Order: sequence, then C-alpha cells, then structure tokens
Amino acid sequence: MIKTTNLHKQFGKQEVLRGISEEFNKGEVVVIIGPSGSGKSTFLRCLNLMEQPTGGDVLFNEQSLLDNKVEINQIRQEMGMVFQQFNLFPHMTVQDNITFAPKKLKGLSDKESEFLARKLLKRIGLESHINHYPNQLSGGQKQRIAIARSLAMSPKVMLFDEPTSALDPEMVGEVLDVMKELAKEGMTMIVVTHEMGFAKEVADRVLLMDQGQIIEQGTPDVMFTSPQNERTKAFLSKVL
Ligand code: ADP
Ligand code: MG
Repeated sequence: MIKTTNLHKQFGKQEVLRGISEEFNKGEVVVIIGPSGSGKSTFLRCLNLMEQPTGGDVLFNEQSLLDNKVEINQIRQEMGMVFQQFNLFPHMTVQDNITFAPKKLKGLSDKESEFLARKLLKRIGLESHINHYPNQLSGGQKQRIAIARSLAMSPKVMLFDEPTSALDPEMVGEVLDVMKELAKEGMTMIVVTHEMGFAKEVADRVLLMDQGQIIEQGTPDVMFTSPQNERTKAFLSKVL
C-alpha cells in the first residue's frame, strides 16, 4: 500500500532520513521504535507529504506522491494521522470535530453527519459525549475522539505518532484498546510508540530506527527476544 524508495530528508545541512526503502502492506500493523531524534516523526510525515522528502520517493498504491499530477489532498484523505497532541478544535463540539472534514470535503448533510458521529462514537464508547466540548474531556477521551475524527474520512491507512505519550498513565490503556480494536478490524496501521506491550500484542512487524535509517526489523517475537544489531540491543535494554 505504501512504499518508500531510498527516502531522504534534510533540514538544512542536517540529514534526518538517510535512505529508507520500506514497504507497508494492506492490513499490516507496523510499529516503529527508536531513540528520540532518530527521525521517526519525520518519516511518518513524509509518508503523507506533511514533510517534503529531499530525495527518493513515496508510493501510495503504486502511485508516486511526488508526481506533479497527483492530487495530494485526495491522497491525504485516505491516510489518517493521529498525533501526540490531540489537536481537537476547542470551539467545536465532539460531533463537529468529528464531522468537520467529511462535511466540508464530502458534502455530508447535518443528518448524515450526526449519524456518522454517533456510529464512530459508539465504537470508541463515547456516544454520550457527542455534545461535549474538548475542555470537558479527559486526555484519553480527547485522543479517542481524535482517532474517531480521523476515521470519519474512511482512511485506508492510519498513521499514529506517539498517540499515548502525552497522556497520564491511567489513560494510556483506553487509547491502546481503541487502536487494538482497529487492528483487529484489519486497518492498515503504522504506529510510532514506546508501548512495547502494544507492539508485542498487535504488531506484525517492528522496525527500529536509528540516526535516520531502519537498522533492524522483524516480528515482535524475534525483535524483542533475539535482536541482532548491537544498537537494537542497546535500545531495547532501556525500554523493555
Ligand atoms: P523522532 O520523532 O524520532 O524523535 P524527529 O523526526 O522528530 O525524530 O526528528 C529528527 C531530527 O530532525 C531531530 O534532530 C529534529 O531536531 C530534526 N527536525 C525535525 N523536524 C524539523 C524541522 N521542521 N526543522 C528542522 N529540524 C527538524
Ligand atoms: Mg517523534
């Protein structure tokens, strides 16, 4: 579904991505781990061109995103993204947060919007909060709503950038549960996270990034029990 070939990204003189060639298949759940500053967020952001690569290519369903003819906004609609900071619109209700994009981009009516919001909220167990404002929600609830908001555009793949890192510990579980449900339903997911339990339970593959490259990858089983690379061993010894 997504393929990168020799992907490079520089900020000024700093080389942040140093040649990443990787594929993500339909239905796969891939967890990306690695030290802070290794380029994980930049890599995710290059996948939907929130960052412009400085070399190499990104293909989405075999189409190069760097091709001038590509409607990048169309493609972005098919790639949901959830960040560490939930970025809900503070002045909008939960329902309006969820349906803002599909109303604007797909022309949903008010009735269709409410139906969609209820359906998604039921899925994350927050239907009773449909008329709440973000400041009336806990961090975990906000992040679940942010996920529902992404799902409202019916994306083909979901990108998560440390979705639980800004949460109080007691709220991490409820967000991971929503993500596990999504994985079970067959969603294609690329997840940057430090939650090794999540990786063990749901990842098909774990990639380890270091200094702008993917230095090792494998099933969670193999990665966590018998990593080969010394840098992988050093990183895992700190987080496992
Ligand atoms: P990670 O998510 O693994 O912590 P990032 O992708 O956020 O790593 O950052 C990798 C490196 O790129 C860091 O050194 C960071 O300072 C730098 N970087 C990220 N975004 C920008 C930017 N917009 N401008 C300049 N440097 C950036
Ligand atoms: Mg990051």
